[in-house]
Amino acid sequence: MTVTTTETNRQIRLKKRPVGMPAPGDFEAVASPRPAPRDGEVLRRTIYLSLDPYMRGRMSDAASYANPVNLGDVMVGHTVSQVVDSRHPNFRAGDIVTGYDGWQEYAVSDGKDLRKLDSSVPISTAIGVLGMPGMTAYVGLLDIGQPKPGETVVVSGASGAVGSIVGQLAKIKGCRAVGVAGSAEKCRHVVDELGFDACVNYKTDDLVNALRDACPKGIDVYFENVGGAVFAAVLRLLNKFARIPLCGMISEYNVTQNPGGPNLRPLLVHRAMIRGFIVSDHYDRFPAFLQEVVPLVRDGRIKYREDIVDGLDAAPWALIGLFEGRNFGKALVRVSPEDPGTG
Ligand code: NDP
Repeated sequence: MTVTTTETNRQIRLKKRPVGMPAPGDFEAVASPRPAPRDGEVLRRTIYLSLDPYMRGRMSDAASYANPVNLGDVMVGHTVSQVVDSRHPNFRAGDIVTGYDGWQEYAVSDGKDLRKLDSSVPISTAIGVLGMPGMTAYVGLLDIGQPKPGETVVVSGASGAVGSIVGQLAKIKGCRAVGVAGSAEKCRHVVDELGFDACVNYKTDDLVNALRDACPKGIDVYFENVGGAVFAAVLRLLNKFARIPLCGMISEYNVTQNPGGPNLRPLLVHRAMIRGFIVSDHYDRFPAFLQEVVPLVRDGRIKYREDIVDGLDAAPWALIGLFEGRNFGKALVRVSPEDPGTG
């Protein structure tokens, strides 16, 4: 049983399962009592909440690799928080931690799910470039994509949380990095700020021809984030023994009818390998990821962009924005200020 106080804890709960694109009415904001820690527990205040495309899957009760959020439950999500009250020997008030507290202002637990953060990098990075999305880029590209110097790596969703890191890691590994993104501004950012060699705008460019121009030696690794027409175009340009880490297919998360699919014959002809992966199966690689990528972020060799909205109530709108391409960088909600004194 949770002990509560007279103070409130604002939460956003799942009210309805969406059909197609999620809508603001699928969520419900509730002021519930703020929990209090019992012996062995830690209470924390959410500072940043991560918004990620997988949340669409949790809103649905279709069979998937993870259980859905029950109707009436708080939406799930990675968080960065500050400990406000601790009755746990390993945590003190003021500690900054990352966990999975979901869409709410306060959370309490026995602390097993928490990791303390140091202050050598901005704390928001723990749920972005140095958290689940960065880790997804790392294992998907390096372990599954196995890029070799001189090869061409194409990544879709190139300006986003995962794709932006994939392309920068590909450059660091000596590859040609080509992005696919949904606006001229995003493409400019990917090339000018992140250092990709080229970027194709899938909304305005002739995909096959633009990709052919951007990849004169063909495609050796395609890091798949979106599916649909981009995937179909890439398949036509694969090199022999190409690898395709199948990370996500965001163009299909809200479809209500079977979207069909491209002709897979090029996989056979080119002896290509496609492998779906879920980052949570690969957390044995987390220490290696941090060891390699933290210094790159600290030195500015890997850059990241965050798209932060203020206030928990903006979370539904910002989540929907992921499926409309409204976010430009890692989507985060600032639920409360880093330093509450500065309000
Ligand atoms: P992003 O930060 O890239 O945000 C989503 C972006 O997807 C949008 O900004 C938009 O960019 C693009 N997009 C939205 N709708 C479409 C569409 N119909 N067609 C093409 N592009 C679209 O999100 P993440 O980096 O967090 O996630 C990227 C992918 O990685 C997702 O598919 C996600 O599910 C997957 N993922 C998988 C994991 C795993 O373990 N397998 C773990 C983490 C993420 P634009 O403007 O360019 O269209």
